[in-house]
Amino acid sequence: MALTDDEAARPLIACPICGTLFKARSNKGKLNQRCSRPCSIKARNADKARKDANPLDANAIERFFASVDKSEECWIWRGNKNQRGYGLFHLRDLNVSAHRVSWRIVHGDIPEGLYICHRCDNPSCVNPDHLFPGTPLENAQDMVRKGRHAHPNPSKDYRPKYQKNYMRGSEHVHSKLNESLVWDMRIRHVQGERYADIARSIGIRETTCRQAIVGERWAHVPFPDK
Ligand SMILES: [Zn+2]
Ligand SMILES: [Zn+2]
Repeated sequence: MALTDDEAARPLIACPICGTLFKARSNKGKLNQRCSRPCSIKARNADKARKDANPLDANAIERFFASVDKSEECWIWRGNKNQRGYGLFHLRDLNVSAHRVSWRIVHGDIPEGLYICHRCDNPSCVNPDHLFPGTPLENAQDMVRKGRHAHPNPSKDYRPKYQKNYMRGSEHVHSKLNESLVWDMRIRHVQGERYADIARSIGIRETTCRQAIVGERWAHVPFPDK
C-alpha cells in the first residue's frame, strides 16, 4: 500500500527520552524527535545540564569577558546571539547561554532544572547583579509580568473571528474553571504533571483538563514557557 505524502512525512520513531513509539511530526523541515511536551522539557533540561557541566577554566573566563561590554549598567554580550537575543558563548564545541555562564562564574553550579532569569529584562545582558535563579514556574510568572509570553495581553481576545461569537471560558455559566486556574493547570503540566492527576485534584474530567491545557478550550489564556 502506498503511503500518502503526509504519512511518509511522519515516520514512526522511538522517543529517545521515554522509548515510546510515535509518529514524528516535522517542524520547519526538522523532525520532532520527542513524543510529548514533558519529554521535550526533560530533553531540554538534560541539554542544559550537559552544557552547565562543561568546565570553565581561567582561559574560558578570560575569553568570555573579551565579548562583554561593561560600559553601561547592563553588561552587553557582543558575541553571537540566538534569535531571541540571548548571548551564546562557544565552549568546547557547545553553544552555551552567556548569561548562565556569567552566573556560574560568580556563584558556581546551577542546580538542575533551574532557569537563570533577568531582573533587567535585557536578554543580551550578562551582568551577574541583574541575574537570579528561578524555577520554571517563577520564570513563567516573570515572563507574564514582563509581557513576554505568547499572548501579551490576557484581556484581549486572540481567537479567530469565527470563534468570537462563542462565550469565552469563565463567561460560561457552567464553567468550573476560570482563567487563573487554567493558567495554573498549564504550569503544572509544563512541570511534568499528568492530565489525569491535574484533573483529579480539581475535580474535573480528564478530557476537559486536557482541552484546557492544550488550548482547544481557553485559547485566550496565555501559555507558559513559550
Ligand atoms: Zn517520550
Ligand atoms: Zn542587565
